[in-house]
Amino acid sequence: MKTERLFFLTKANADIIDITGELRKAVSSWQISDGILFLSVIGSTAALTTMEFEPGLVKDFKQSLESLFPYRADYAHNLTWSDDNGHSHLRSAYLKTSIFVSVSNGALDLGTWQQVVLLDFDTRPRKREVVLKIIE
Ligand code: ZN
Repeated sequence: MKTERLFFLTKANADIIDITGELRKAVSSWQISDGILFLSVIGSTAALTTMEFEPGLVKDFKQSLESLFPYRADYAHNLTWSDDNGHSHLRSAYLKTSIFVSVSNGALDLGTWQQVVLLDFDTRPRKREVVLKIIE
């Protein structure tokens, strides 16, 4: 099994970053033909998923997160630590911090309008670590 760590600087409050290009570079540098790429973001206020990465949908995604887990709501977590990111932890837990993408003939099995995105829900800028594992 191969391991690689990628780092991304994120802005606060539901930053959504397309990381598909970095994943393609990793798969290409490893010269993987067929396998499974597992990726995981370290932390409890971020997530990984796939979506069509275009400005309209990015806006829709942020709006739907705000209506499901509003920033301004009463979260017990915020009282526990005098924190302001109870909503960030909930968004992360519901969306999950890891995904698998299969690799066939050296390419990620993604649709034309499907990108892998890193989502950061924390209330301050962060440096995020994404761990990649490839299973051949
Ligand atoms: Zn917290």
